[in-house]
Amino acid sequence: MMRLIGKIVLTTFILLGLSNCSDQKVNEEITNNPDQVDTIIDQTTYLYGIPVDSFKVVGDKVKKNQFFSQILIQYGINYATIDKMAREGKEIFDVRRLRAGRSYTVFTTNDSLETAQIVIYEINKIEYVVYDLRDTLKIYRAKKPVTVETKTASGVITSSLYLTLEQQGYNPELAIVLSEIYAWSIDFYHIQKNDKFKVIYEETMVEGESVGIKRIKSAYFEHFKKPYYAIQFTQNKNLGYYDEENRGLRRQFLKAPVKFSRISSRFSYKRFHPVQKRNKAHLGTDYAAPKGTPIYSTANGIITHAKYSKYNGNYVKVKHNSVYTTQYLHMSKIKRGIRPSVRVKQGDVIGFVGSTGLATGPHVCYRFWKNGKQVDPYRQKLPKSEPIKKANLKKYEKIKKVMVTELQGIKYPSL
Ligand SMILES: [Zn+2]
Repeated sequence: MMRLIGKIVLTTFILLGLSNCSDQKVNEEITNNPDQVDTIIDQTTYLYGIPVDSFKVVGDKVKKNQFFSQILIQYGINYATIDKMAREGKEIFDVRRLRAGRSYTVFTTNDSLETAQIVIYEINKIEYVVYDLRDTLKIYRAKKPVTVETKTASGVITSSLYLTLEQQGYNPELAIVLSEIYAWSIDFYHIQKNDKFKVIYEETMVEGESVGIKRIKSAYFEHFKKPYYAIQFTQNKNLGYYDEENRGLRRQFLKAPVKFSRISSRFSYKRFHPVQKRNKAHLGTDYAAPKGTPIYSTANGIITHAKYSKYNGNYVKVKHNSVYTTQYLHMSKIKRGIRPSVRVKQGDVIGFVGSTGLATGPHVCYRFWKNGKQVDPYRQKLPKSEPIKKANLKKYEKIKKVMVTELQGIKYPSL
């Protein structure tokens, strides 16, 4: 019965999905006459590089709590062989790491015996392990052909960037990559309805399915009706993004110490304290985010404090240079290894959002010192990164022109 179900599933799989993963081999033979080209097309269908014609192909997806042996016994593979497959293949793939929902395929003899010949398990979207049971057991890992496609996306924000991309059928990972590029210039906590974006990017594809965003080549973001360009360019061997005025997008400080949160309280000299119930200066910016959300150091620096105190709870303080220091309060946990004198880079995780110390709910209170005085980071004219160097200007201008023209040619989806 299980065999039959497996077969039905696989037949459907072949009908729907095989056209994508079959590779037709085209052999071109040039004869003596240079004008006469014989093209021999091999019509064989391949699955995992194996010609399917010579086998019966069955398979399914791993079910919840299903073991390697439970699967294989259904296909008439005896326990001794299963044990050998698991043992000899341990270094290549540990069968205890089988995951529900992943696909497996069994190639059997094309006769009434249907003896299992080859077993394939998909470790992830790209890699798979092959157990070749013909003659002596051979076990190896292989990869599906990966292609990189240049694509474009555009949209008008209705709720969040992530949802807008997802609703239009794009890989929503694009939202994360975009927000990283713009982390220094656009406040994603104040993203507006009707903000617009256009992006040219490279996507990694396997069998017609997206497995990830490789990189963004260029992007245009319209925020509060203001244009923000991001054009990729390599300068001093460093890949970076630059704007239409040849300035770098990366600033000395990140806009915020957490991603995708909201500001729940701004820096002010007079604010009603929700816990102490009195007016008190709030010399920080509070970002409300779920407990456990990673907190990033907003710039490169050296840890000066990483400890617990009654009011601050678990907190970390980072000295960036002789002028700037930042502090992050109320962490549920300080990241392991974060202690005084440790160097951190911009974007490194230093702890996790919590509500330790004097706090009503999970948030991070972000404090910013300039020359020993607490200031509002959003009112500071913070230094920008290096612009395009003179020597690279001609080259950048050329790329910029092509990219801006391409971006302008992308249309927004009609709502
Ligand atoms: Zn605060």
